[in-house]
Amino acid sequence: MDISTMPRSYGVTVPQWVFDELRATPDTLSTDEERMSLVHKLAARNPAEGSGGPFAALVVDTATGEIVSAGVNLVLASGLSAAHAEIVALSLAQTRIGGWDLGATGAPDRELVVNWRPCAQCYGAALWSGVKRLVVAGAGPELEQLTGFDEGPMREDWAEQFHGRGIEVVSDVLREQGTRGVRRLRPDGCRAGAHRLQRARHHLAEARSVTPAPRPHPTPGTSLPPTRAARR
Ligand SMILES: [Zn+2]
Repeated sequence: MDISTMPRSYGVTVPQWVFDELRATPDTLSTDEERMSLVHKLAARNPAEGSGGPFAALVVDTATGEIVSAGVNLVLASGLSAAHAEIVALSLAQTRIGGWDLGATGAPDRELVVNWRPCAQCYGAALWSGVKRLVVAGAGPELEQLTGFDEGPMREDWAEQFHGRGIEVVSDVLREQGTRGVRRLRPDGCRAGAHRLQRARHHLAEARSVTPAPRPHPTPGTSLPPTRAARR
Protein backbone atom coordinates (compact mmCIF):
# COMPACT_ATOMS: atom_id res chain seq x y z
CA MET A 1 0.00 0.00 0.00
CA ASP A 2 1.41 3.35 -1.06
CA ILE A 3 0.01 5.84 1.40
CA SER A 4 2.26 8.59 0.08
CA THR A 5 -0.21 9.19 -2.77
CA MET A 6 -3.31 9.22 -0.57
CA PRO A 7 -4.83 12.70 -0.20
CA ARG A 8 -5.49 13.99 3.31
CA SER A 9 -8.10 16.56 2.39
CA TYR A 10 -10.42 17.61 -0.36
CA GLY A 11 -12.58 20.57 -1.16
CA VAL A 12 -14.12 22.89 -3.71
CA THR A 13 -13.67 26.55 -4.49
CA VAL A 14 -16.58 28.68 -5.61
CA PRO A 15 -15.46 30.66 -8.67
CA GLN A 16 -14.99 34.42 -8.56
CA TRP A 17 -17.86 35.14 -10.93
CA VAL A 18 -20.33 33.90 -8.30
CA PHE A 19 -19.04 36.50 -5.86
CA ASP A 20 -19.18 39.14 -8.58
CA GLU A 21 -22.88 38.32 -8.95
CA LEU A 22 -23.36 38.45 -5.18
CA ARG A 23 -21.67 41.83 -5.00
CA ALA A 24 -24.24 43.13 -7.47
CA THR A 25 -27.09 41.71 -5.35
CA PRO A 26 -28.95 43.62 -2.62
CA ASP A 27 -27.82 42.82 0.91
CA THR A 28 -31.13 41.18 1.72
CA LEU A 29 -33.59 39.26 -0.44
CA SER A 30 -37.00 39.59 1.13
CA THR A 31 -39.16 37.27 -0.93
CA ASP A 32 -38.95 33.71 -2.23
CA GLU A 33 -39.05 35.11 -5.75
CA GLU A 34 -36.07 37.40 -5.17
CA ARG A 35 -34.06 34.52 -3.74
CA MET A 36 -35.03 32.17 -6.55
CA SER A 37 -34.30 34.79 -9.16
CA LEU A 38 -30.68 34.91 -7.99
CA VAL A 39 -30.53 31.11 -7.95
CA HIS A 40 -31.74 31.02 -11.56
CA LYS A 41 -29.19 33.62 -12.58
CA LEU A 42 -26.31 31.64 -11.06
CA ALA A 43 -27.63 28.35 -12.43
CA ALA A 44 -27.94 29.74 -15.95
CA ARG A 45 -24.39 31.09 -15.95
CA ASN A 46 -22.72 28.03 -14.43
CA PRO A 47 -22.48 25.74 -17.51
CA ALA A 48 -21.15 28.55 -19.69
CA GLU A 49 -18.45 29.14 -17.11
CA GLY A 50 -17.48 25.48 -17.30
CA SER A 51 -18.06 24.57 -13.66
CA GLY A 52 -20.83 22.04 -14.06
CA GLY A 53 -24.52 21.66 -14.71
CA PRO A 54 -27.17 24.38 -14.55
CA PHE A 55 -27.79 24.27 -10.82
CA ALA A 56 -27.31 26.74 -8.00
CA ALA A 57 -28.35 26.97 -4.37
CA LEU A 58 -28.43 29.53 -1.59
CA VAL A 59 -28.61 29.24 2.16
CA VAL A 60 -30.59 32.22 3.37
CA ASP A 61 -31.59 33.56 6.78
CA THR A 62 -35.33 33.12 6.43
CA ALA A 63 -36.39 36.13 8.49
CA THR A 64 -33.84 38.73 7.40
CA GLY A 65 -33.23 37.56 3.84
CA GLU A 66 -29.47 37.72 4.32
CA ILE A 67 -27.55 35.30 2.12
CA VAL A 68 -25.44 33.00 4.28
CA SER A 69 -23.79 31.14 1.41
CA ALA A 70 -24.06 30.51 -2.30
CA GLY A 71 -23.18 27.39 -4.23
CA VAL A 72 -23.19 26.23 -7.82
CA ASN A 73 -22.61 22.81 -9.26
CA LEU A 74 -18.86 22.21 -9.25
CA VAL A 75 -18.76 18.56 -10.27
CA LEU A 76 -16.83 19.17 -13.48
CA ALA A 77 -14.54 21.86 -12.12
CA SER A 78 -13.65 19.90 -8.99
CA GLY A 79 -13.79 16.33 -10.26
CA LEU A 80 -15.94 15.48 -7.24
CA SER A 81 -19.24 13.74 -7.92
CA ALA A 82 -20.69 15.04 -4.65
CA ALA A 83 -20.09 18.72 -5.49
CA HIS A 84 -23.72 19.47 -6.23
CA ALA A 85 -24.93 23.02 -5.67
CA GLU A 86 -26.84 22.09 -2.52
CA ILE A 87 -23.84 20.34 -0.97
CA VAL A 88 -21.62 23.32 -1.78
CA ALA A 89 -24.06 25.87 -0.33
CA LEU A 90 -24.81 23.85 2.80
CA SER A 91 -21.14 23.10 3.44
CA LEU A 92 -20.13 26.72 3.00
CA ALA A 93 -22.91 27.84 5.34
CA GLN A 94 -21.74 25.34 7.97
CA THR A 95 -18.18 26.50 7.46
CA ARG A 96 -19.29 30.10 7.91
CA ILE A 97 -21.17 29.51 11.16
CA GLY A 98 -18.52 27.11 12.42
CA GLY A 99 -20.77 24.12 13.03
CA TRP A 100 -22.57 21.26 11.37
CA ASP A 101 -26.07 22.21 12.51
CA LEU A 102 -27.64 25.15 10.69
CA GLY A 103 -30.64 24.77 12.97
CA ALA A 104 -28.83 24.69 16.30
CA THR A 105 -30.62 26.00 19.36
CA GLY A 106 -30.65 29.76 19.37
CA ALA A 107 -29.69 30.03 15.70
CA PRO A 108 -31.91 31.92 13.28
CA ASP A 109 -34.04 29.81 10.95
CA ARG A 110 -32.17 29.16 7.76
CA GLU A 111 -33.41 27.82 4.45
CA LEU A 112 -32.06 26.17 1.33
CA VAL A 113 -33.18 27.72 -1.97
CA VAL A 114 -32.45 25.61 -5.04
CA ASN A 115 -33.67 25.57 -8.60
CA TRP A 116 -34.99 22.03 -8.55
CA ARG A 117 -35.95 19.32 -6.13
CA PRO A 118 -32.80 17.79 -4.57
CA CYS A 119 -31.46 14.53 -5.96
CA ALA A 120 -31.13 11.43 -3.80
CA GLN A 121 -27.77 12.62 -2.43
CA CYS A 122 -28.82 16.17 -1.66
CA TYR A 123 -32.13 14.97 -0.22
CA GLY A 124 -30.23 13.36 2.65
CA ALA A 125 -27.81 16.27 2.95
CA ALA A 126 -30.67 18.76 3.24
CA LEU A 127 -32.46 16.60 5.81
CA TRP A 128 -29.43 16.53 8.12
CA SER A 129 -28.28 20.11 7.57
CA GLY A 130 -30.53 21.85 10.05
CA VAL A 131 -32.35 24.06 7.55
CA LYS A 132 -35.96 24.76 8.48
CA ARG A 133 -37.23 25.46 4.99
CA LEU A 134 -36.62 24.18 1.47
CA VAL A 135 -37.63 26.39 -1.45
CA VAL A 136 -37.59 24.89 -4.96
CA ALA A 137 -38.65 26.17 -8.36
CA GLY A 138 -39.95 22.78 -9.40
CA ALA A 139 -40.26 19.21 -8.29
CA GLY A 140 -41.48 17.27 -11.29
CA PRO A 141 -39.72 15.19 -13.93
CA GLU A 142 -39.30 18.06 -16.43
CA LEU A 143 -35.74 18.95 -15.57
CA GLU A 144 -34.65 15.32 -15.54
CA GLN A 145 -36.15 14.92 -19.00
CA LEU A 146 -34.47 18.09 -20.24
CA THR A 147 -31.03 17.31 -18.89
CA GLY A 148 -30.98 13.52 -19.00
CA PHE A 149 -29.52 13.52 -15.51
CA ASP A 150 -30.35 10.82 -13.03
CA GLU A 151 -32.15 12.00 -9.91
CA GLY A 152 -31.48 8.75 -8.09
CA PRO A 153 -33.99 6.66 -6.15
CA MET A 154 -36.05 9.49 -4.69
CA ARG A 155 -38.95 8.60 -2.44
CA GLU A 156 -42.42 9.46 -3.63
CA ASP A 157 -43.09 11.02 -0.22
CA TRP A 158 -39.88 13.08 -0.14
CA ALA A 159 -41.72 16.30 0.72
CA GLU A 160 -43.67 14.61 3.51
CA GLN A 161 -40.39 13.34 4.93
CA PHE A 162 -39.15 16.91 5.14
CA HIS A 163 -42.39 18.04 6.74
CA GLY A 164 -42.16 15.20 9.25
CA ARG A 165 -38.80 16.56 10.38
CA GLY A 166 -40.05 20.09 10.77
CA ILE A 167 -38.80 21.36 7.41
CA GLU A 168 -41.28 23.38 5.38
CA VAL A 169 -41.23 22.72 1.62
CA VAL A 170 -42.21 25.51 -0.76
CA SER A 171 -42.32 24.65 -4.47
CA ASP A 172 -43.29 26.27 -7.78
CA VAL A 173 -41.34 29.47 -7.12
CA LEU A 174 -40.44 30.93 -10.56
CA ARG A 175 -40.81 27.43 -11.97
CA GLU A 176 -41.19 28.39 -15.63
CA GLN A 177 -38.13 30.61 -15.50
CA GLY A 178 -36.12 27.62 -14.30
CA THR A 179 -37.10 25.25 -17.06
CA ARG A 180 -36.78 27.99 -19.68
CA GLY A 181 -33.24 28.66 -18.55
CA VAL A 182 -32.22 25.04 -19.00
CA ARG A 183 -33.83 24.83 -22.44
CA ARG A 184 -31.97 27.95 -23.53
CA LEU A 185 -28.66 26.49 -22.44
CA ARG A 186 -28.82 23.27 -24.38
CA PRO A 187 -27.73 24.43 -27.86
CA ASP A 188 -24.40 26.05 -27.03
CA GLY A 189 -23.99 26.72 -23.36
CA CYS A 190 -21.99 23.69 -22.40
CA ARG A 191 -19.86 23.54 -25.50
CA ALA A 192 -18.56 26.99 -24.73
CA GLY A 193 -18.29 25.90 -21.14
CA ALA A 194 -16.29 22.82 -22.08
CA HIS A 195 -13.56 24.96 -23.63
CA ARG A 196 -13.41 27.14 -20.53
CA LEU A 197 -13.40 24.03 -18.41
CA GLN A 198 -10.40 22.60 -20.26
CA ARG A 199 -8.51 25.82 -19.60
CA ALA A 200 -9.56 25.75 -15.96
CA ARG A 201 -8.35 22.17 -15.59
CA HIS A 202 -5.05 23.10 -17.15
CA HIS A 203 -4.55 25.96 -14.70
CA LEU A 204 -5.66 23.76 -11.82
CA ALA A 205 -3.22 21.03 -12.83
CA GLU A 206 -0.41 23.55 -13.06
CA ALA A 207 -1.28 24.87 -9.64
CA ARG A 208 -1.23 21.39 -8.21
CA SER A 209 1.76 20.29 -10.29
CA VAL A 210 -0.05 17.13 -11.27
CA THR A 211 -1.33 15.81 -14.55
CA PRO A 212 -5.12 15.96 -14.82
CA ALA A 213 -6.87 12.65 -15.30
CA PRO A 214 -8.48 12.23 -18.73
CA ARG A 215 -12.16 13.00 -18.70
CA PRO A 216 -14.95 12.35 -21.16
CA HIS A 217 -15.72 15.30 -23.42
CA PRO A 218 -19.27 16.39 -24.11
CA THR A 219 -20.48 14.91 -27.40
CA PRO A 220 -20.58 17.58 -30.12
CA GLY A 221 -24.11 18.71 -30.67
CA THR A 222 -25.17 18.03 -27.12
CA SER A 223 -24.83 20.51 -24.37
CA LEU A 224 -24.93 18.91 -20.98
CA PRO A 225 -22.39 16.28 -19.95
CA PRO A 226 -23.84 12.78 -20.38
CA THR A 227 -22.35 11.29 -17.23
CA ARG A 228 -24.32 10.72 -14.06
CA ALA A 229 -21.52 12.23 -12.03
CA ALA A 230 -21.96 15.50 -13.82
CA ARG A 231 -25.65 15.60 -13.11
CA ARG A 232 -25.37 18.72 -11.05
ZN1 LIG B 1 -27.81 16.73 -5.72
